[in-house]
Amino acid sequence: MTTALDDLTAYWMPFTANDRFKAAPRMFTSAKGMFYTTDEGRELLDGTAGLWCCNIGHGRRRVADAVHAQMMTLDYASSFQTGHPAAFRLANRLADMAPEGLDHVFFSGSGSEAVDTALKMAIAWHKKTGQGSRTRLIGRERGFHGVGFGGVSVGGIVNNRRNYGPLLPGTDHICHTHLVQNAFSRGQPEHGAELADDLERLVALHGAETIAAVIVEPVAGATGVLVPPKGYLERLRAICDAHGILLIFDEVVTGFGRLGTNFAAQWFGVTPDIMCVAKGITGGLFPMGATLVSDKVRQAFRGDAVHGIDLFHGYTYSGHPTGVAAAEAVLDIMDQEGLVARAAAMAPLWEDALHALRDCPNVVDIRNIGLTGAVELAPREGKPGERGFDAHLHAFANGALIRAVGDIMVMSPPLIISEEQVAQLMSTLRAAIEAVA
Ligand code: PMP
Repeated sequence: MTTALDDLTAYWMPFTANDRFKAAPRMFTSAKGMFYTTDEGRELLDGTAGLWCCNIGHGRRRVADAVHAQMMTLDYASSFQTGHPAAFRLANRLADMAPEGLDHVFFSGSGSEAVDTALKMAIAWHKKTGQGSRTRLIGRERGFHGVGFGGVSVGGIVNNRRNYGPLLPGTDHICHTHLVQNAFSRGQPEHGAELADDLERLVALHGAETIAAVIVEPVAGATGVLVPPKGYLERLRAICDAHGILLIFDEVVTGFGRLGTNFAAQWFGVTPDIMCVAKGITGGLFPMGATLVSDKVRQAFRGDAVHGIDLFHGYTYSGHPTGVAAAEAVLDIMDQEGLVARAAAMAPLWEDALHALRDCPNVVDIRNIGLTGAVELAPREGKPGERGFDAHLHAFANGALIRAVGDIMVMSPPLIISEEQVAQLMSTLRAAIEAVA
């Protein structure tokens, strides 16, 4: 066994080309405000809020102090049959922030757990309400819902699915919302509301009486910022209502101010029956997820006879005191600094700066909403993803962290980003795109 720092073999990194990374590691050693510092002492502008999560930026003493104080006061308490007041306080606060009617909060430890919780609740709800045949779960192509078996089964990314056997039985997918004719749309695209009718196809194919729920990200994030066409989510909601299907929004990425509203549901004016959140809930500073449900969903679980327990589900870290303390401090900061309104105010400038990259070589589409943006590059012939990854490396070497999803350059900066930093991010991306032309 070796403990040397120059031996990188033991750590099997997630979603990473391990050998390539370890041949040329890119390491961070500290972070403050909008910037990471690398092990070479270089500063990098954080264009991605870590992984869509550090919405309040980095190095906030107030959160660190709250977490420290919590650990010294009540470090852990199980949420099975016991509680602690702050978890109830946070649940109330989330219900207040959420779209009208999503009043009940189930805590978990990550986005993946929040999703699997939602899927299980949806199936169980139908059983409770006398419709036990409704077990089918519908996701969407190009959807990402974490890495649990439930989330992967409703997810629509082939590489996340192909090596894991048959996955959950009885899942299906509606088509994605990316239309070439919508290229270079600003915000919501005009065309494609009727793509929601693909759900009618699955209803006709399987029978509504077999379908429990449909889960979508209001804006697909991980697969390259796919903004729903105008009218699409409204139509999806209406089809769900017509057929007694529960609508689940996965707001793991879009929650907590990313679009300039608390949640995307409020931006689009469409309320789901169940909503999954994580990431920004603690500003990425502690692993936490939550599943919010409507009163209609919650009420059916009241008064279960089996040991009086209303849901046989939960995690050791549900409502973890330290996570709750981190979330409360993060939400305090967001309130006091008005970060949701700030994101909304910055969004038009962000949109202009992003779309100014249209004249760069190989750019085939640019998409945005709120403080998210994607610049899609044409792939190199026979080498999909290579151009994007090279652009990521170029940006990394030149002062900005920008994600590459295949050949799509994706950005989602902390909500504290300044006008100058938007300009810096875009000029670094421009130089990277030109360099990989
Ligand atoms: N849902 C969505 C929409 C996500 O983007 C992610 C993570 N990027 C997840 C779920 C999974 O969250 P986690 O990694 O916390 O399990």
